[in-house]
Amino acid sequence: MLELFFLGSSNAFTPDGRYWSSFLLNGRYLFDAPPTVVPHLKRLSVPVTDIRVIFISHFHGDHFLGLPFLLLDYLHMTPRQEDLHIVGPPGVEKVIEDATELAFPNLSRADSGYQRHYMEVDVNQEQTVDDLRFQAFPMKHGDEGLESFGYRVCLDDKVVAYTGDAEFSEELFALAEGADVLVMDCNYSEGKGPYHVSFAEVPEIRRRLPLSTTIILTHMEAELDVSGLQGVLAAQDFAVFRFP
Ligand SMILES: [Zn+2]
Ligand SMILES: [Zn+2]
Repeated sequence: MLELFFLGSSNAFTPDGRYWSSFLLNGRYLFDAPPTVVPHLKRLSVPVTDIRVIFISHFHGDHFLGLPFLLLDYLHMTPRQEDLHIVGPPGVEKVIEDATELAFPNLSRADSGYQRHYMEVDVNQEQTVDDLRFQAFPMKHGDEGLESFGYRVCLDDKVVAYTGDAEFSEELFALAEGADVLVMDCNYSEGKGPYHVSFAEVPEIRRRLPLSTTIILTHMEAELDVSGLQGVLAAQDFAVFRFP
């Protein structure tokens, strides 16, 4: 069974007061860590120590700046013993540890009683982290030289794909191949823009993917009416989606 808990559903600007997008898969795997990750896990009564692997799609602040607060919590509030795995773009260890040290001096160097293991993505092969098989795919997200990745993970006999932030491109379809659930950036309500998928592009994406792939839209600038689209759902803050 798959269970996706959305800790937020909006973009970097948090329009309408909705929160930065992120979701927890089967209570153990966190996809992106926005600044609200700790309060939102606590609001949902999810023990923060249940997280085993964190996938970071790219280094925009709405996707990783919650990590210093999570690591602070592990040091002072909720001690953890089990290893923590953090997967991300090349340079992930330095970016996260430097951000942690900047946010709370000496936190990065502190002996917190557990090990943090970093893994850089390798788009050329399937990888395994903490017994979870996954593959990373390069996504198009602007042209500033910032690397951005989508992830496809295999959990039991189910496949979940996550675009991170991505604009419409053929890479989306490579990522979504064989997925039971595709969590997709759908930032723009109308028109088309750079960096992200627009709602106007969703019908074409829906047409090109089999109906066995349920699409969940997130990272939205406004709430979207998906009632006319078969097999398309829209995330909301604190929404949970279960697939048997
Ligand atoms: Zn974003
Ligand atoms: Zn971004």
